Amino acid sequence: MKRIVSAKIDHIGIAVRSIEKTLALYRDALGVDPSARVVVEHEKVEVVMLPVGGPRLELLEATSDHSVIAKFIEKRGEGLHHIAIRVPDLAAAVERIKARGARLVKDQIQRGAEGYKYVFVHPGSAGGVLLELIEDESGEAGGGDSAGDDKVTD
Ligand code: ZN
Repeated sequence: MKRIVSAKIDHIGIAVRSIEKTLALYRDALGVDPSARVVVEHEKVEVVMLPVGGPRLELLEATSDHSVIAKFIEKRGEGLHHIAIRVPDLAAAVERIKARGARLVKDQIQRGAEGYKYVFVHPGSAGGVLLELIEDESGEAGGGDSAGDDKVTD
């Protein structure tokens, strides 16, 4: 049987007030080369990925006061927002999660900034951390090597 998770963290999401200001640290001071900035309309966020070796950092800035990121920052300030893990078969993972009574933030699988499929598992079902599950486009999660680690195909 295929394992659902190969313990591979894809990225760590950080809610920030200003991507540009935050890039002063990562890009300008540390020399990290950020991805292009992408607006995810349905989430009302702008996103930039920072390749820092291994899991990437994802900076999330609200594009509207109604964005979940705006509400998050209003409540708790900037900070760690979610952890994203890659799974080989997202639909199967979602079915198993629901079968065990865990809550998803939204029931439908959605498409992210880079075209990948994702869902969020509610923090109440994931140890108090918002957990993003994204489909591993390589179709292989396991084996423990790093093939295709940084590639996200559309
Ligand atoms: Zn994310």
